[in-house]
Amino acid sequence: MSIKKLKKAGLKITNQRMSVLDYLSDADERHFSAEDIFRDLRLNGADVGQATVYRVLNQLEKAGMLERHHFEGSKAYYELKSKEHHDHLVCLRCGKIVEFFDPLIEQRQKEIAEQYGIQLSHHHLCLFGYCSDPDCKLKN
Ligand SMILES: [Zn+2]
Ligand SMILES: [Zn+2]
Repeated sequence: MSIKKLKKAGLKITNQRMSVLDYLSDADERHFSAEDIFRDLRLNGADVGQATVYRVLNQLEKAGMLERHHFEGSKAYYELKSKEHHDHLVCLRCGKIVEFFDPLIEQRQKEIAEQYGIQLSHHHLCLFGYCSDPDCKLKN
């Protein structure tokens, strides 16, 4: 799977690229910080340095295979690029990230951009707040 994707993106197949992609495709979660990815790869026994993981994430993003988000603070989050566009909701207390898609919002954004003479190419919409998960409330 990852081999095919790398080839399609015109990237050489390296163990590091493969392990990062495999990790992201196999995980239940979809959004990871670079630190999370590095820590989990090491826990899984991968012999890979932090600088390498950061560099690989960068390369995969440039090749259009990953999306990078800055939800909050300085931490970058990565997710595998999905075919369908989506936006995000982020809990400021527990860090939970939820994806959503709303056709009305999408449409309005296009119209607003047009009103200002901008043809929309892409956008990142992120809504911040506090989730109602009982575990999250305990953290406070
Ligand atoms: Zn929460
Ligand atoms: Zn997402």
